[in-house]
Amino acid sequence: MGVKVCVVGGGVVGLTTATLLQEHGALPVGSTVTLLADKFLQETTSDGVVGVFLPSSDFRGPTTAVTKQWIQDSHRYYTEIIANTPEAQCIGVKKIPSYFFSNHTPSVLYWSDILKEILEDYRMCTKDELKRHGRKYGVFATTLIAECSYYLPYLTSRFTSRGGVVERRHLKSLEELVGHYDVVCNCSGLGARDLVGDHYVFPIRGHLFKVHAPWITQCYMHEFETYIIPGKEYVTLGSTKQFDSYNTTVCHHDSCAVWDHCMKFLPSLKGAKVLWQWVGLRPWRPYVRVEKETMVFKGGKTLKVVHNYGHGSGGVTSSPGTAMHAITLIKQLLQEKKD
Ligand SMILES: Cc1cc2nc3c(=O)[nH]c(=O)nc-3n(C[C@H](O)[C@H](O)[C@H](O)COP(=O)(O)OP(=O)(O)OC[C@H]3O[C@@H](n4cnc5c(N)ncnc54)[C@H](O)[C@@H]3O)c2cc1C
Repeated sequence: MGVKVCVVGGGVVGLTTATLLQEHGALPVGSTVTLLADKFLQETTSDGVVGVFLPSSDFRGPTTAVTKQWIQDSHRYYTEIIANTPEAQCIGVKKIPSYFFSNHTPSVLYWSDILKEILEDYRMCTKDELKRHGRKYGVFATTLIAECSYYLPYLTSRFTSRGGVVERRHLKSLEELVGHYDVVCNCSGLGARDLVGDHYVFPIRGHLFKVHAPWITQCYMHEFETYIIPGKEYVTLGSTKQFDSYNTTVCHHDSCAVWDHCMKFLPSLKGAKVLWQWVGLRPWRPYVRVEKETMVFKGGKTLKVVHNYGHGSGGVTSSPGTAMHAITLIKQLLQEKKD
């Protein structure tokens, strides 16, 4: 007999989870998956981001082993999209040669031991490369990007073409879903702060420029703070990392700082035409929460929930891996129901 599953959250985490849940044979025949959110596509944080596949030092799961598994699974997922989807470039997913620099950390990248294994062409920069960019330490590797303004519509059509249901609705509490679904997967990002009262979730505000600079063909990043990422039609310049700031308006002071850092980093950007600026809030948590829970509400009503939120700076990087983990937990909850 079919079951009913609701995924709450229409950002990259919810959409990836709902899509993979439908496709991985995780549910019995006749099941329905509903994607419920109060914001979709351009309205979400995910949409503004050209997600570079690169877990940062503030990204982690409950254990190192679990985090590495998420990173590996995600990299495999994106690599398979590139290999098997003729329109991969059109949906914003592609490989990109990249320089990562640091003036403080010789290994440069926090998750370097796993990235060394999975990223193609991984090597330390030569003395000439470091001199050219005026940096102390550096790594060159081919990583991936998923440009969400193209990738989210692609996921949405993959989901709906297999019968997925999309519902626009704001939830005050997950209690509103009791009695309607067998399992709920909570991918509400920053919204989890109110939706499930998780006060470990904080925003980390980030400011981006989108510029026209077609001569930039490689990605450049300095200590996860200053970066230059060429996408399909424009180049993204970033960023700021302001903890616990909910301000989503463009601020002149941040604009000047981001612009100045990027121009110093890559002076050839000076002729770039500014298209627009964007501010987003990364949904950060000390560790990403992928956990199952049976929630109990007033009157003893219960709801089986799998949480999948708090991806901070790494939601695009890690959403396939955390989705696969969440799907395993959903299957366990459905099995417990049968037993
Ligand atoms: C400037 C910047 C640069 C970034 N760069 C990168 C990068 O290079 N690589 C990378 O991997 N990541 C990057 N990130 C991080 C990445 O964007 C996030 O981790 C990711 O978008 C989080 O996705 P999400 O689906 O959890 O959240 P969101 O996209 O915010 O989606 C949350 C969803 O939950 C829904 N929701 C919430 N509460 C409720 C409610 N009560 N009722 C109904 N619906 C609800 C919302 O409507 C929305 O649909 C960047 C972020 C920023 C801001």
